[in-house]
Amino acid sequence: MEQSSATATEPTNLGGSSPDIRLSGVRKAYGEVVAVDGIDLEVQRGEFFTLLGPSGSGKTTTLRIIAGFELPDSGTVELGGRDVRDLPPYDREVNTVFQDYALFPHMSVATNVEYGMRVRGTAKEERAKRRDEALEMVRLSGYGDRKPSELSGGQRQRVALARSIVNRPRVLLLDEPLGALDLKLREQMQIELKQIQHEVGITFVYVTHDQEEALTMSDRVAVFNHGVIEQIGAPADVYETPANRFVAGFVGVSNLIERDGRQFTIRPEKVRLLEPGEGDDGMHIESGRIRDVAYAGMITRYLVVLDAGGELQVVRQNLETTSAEAVEQGGRQVAVGWRPEHTVAVKAATHTERG
Ligand code: ADP
Ligand code: MG
Repeated sequence: MEQSSATATEPTNLGGSSPDIRLSGVRKAYGEVVAVDGIDLEVQRGEFFTLLGPSGSGKTTTLRIIAGFELPDSGTVELGGRDVRDLPPYDREVNTVFQDYALFPHMSVATNVEYGMRVRGTAKEERAKRRDEALEMVRLSGYGDRKPSELSGGQRQRVALARSIVNRPRVLLLDEPLGALDLKLREQMQIELKQIQHEVGITFVYVTHDQEEALTMSDRVAVFNHGVIEQIGAPADVYETPANRFVAGFVGVSNLIERDGRQFTIRPEKVRLLEPGEGDDGMHIESGRIRDVAYAGMITRYLVVLDAGGELQVVRQNLETTSAEAVEQGGRQVAVGWRPEHTVAVKAATHTERG
């Protein structure tokens, strides 16, 4: 697998200890369907690591293999440096939070959070102490007596989180945990989850198909495509220097342009709509026509058809532009410019190269 950029951004392991998670050559097929096609990754202690990719790309299967709900057909899984092939899920220092949070509806919040400790036979005082700590961590102190039905979606999600951190697992696996929430609440929970993770210091492996969510929350992101990892890197790495066409297209909006047989991408916010006479020597300038204008409050998106071929999405902040002025631009002949250093040459994706 091609992963030159992944190696370059691998964090150095200062303590010299083993990573919390190491997958090597992991493959899993269901009949004809290859869900995971030979993946390698390492997650360091305390990292917020995200598996990002479209539906069906193998994210959940990877998570289930780490948790021990599935065994790989080949490859190895190590947790804290130990091969866990023979360890059942309940003996792994790993907990999972699912999208549908599965709280017991007839039990109070407090009883839900204590449930795992009760099963393990933890003493009553210890249970109460850890329960209260966990509820405080997810900012739900005082909600212990409520039933799940008396909580909002975001609060229920935080109860599920409290329940899964109460035993202080080494690693928490989260499979699209915010998927059921509406956009506003989801954005708020993204920030809260990240803060909570920071406070409790548990390693998070987080699954999402939402690139913005991944970029906002993660220390590093693995971009999945048809069971392979196309790139591993910090959010800024995968956004600014996508390893290939798939990553460029999937992570954020990217313009793909071909000039002189060379393909490259440029991000919409790096392209300038130029006033007559604007632009300087260092800038690459082309002419085109604005085909579409979409005013979106803070910004406006322009679709520009270039005279030399290709289309560009251009994003401009509405610093002084009104919606009427923005929309008036439609159909106009314009000059656009960008700095060559903001373009990234791209090659085909790992998956499609394999055919
Ligand atoms: P993601 O979480 O990225 O959406 P999954 O890991 O759930 O992807 O699935 C990857 C591929 O494996 C898909 O094509 C899916 O249909 C298939 N798959 C997953 N689990 C099973 C299963 N238990 N039986 C058969 N096929 C499965
Ligand atoms: Mg999934």
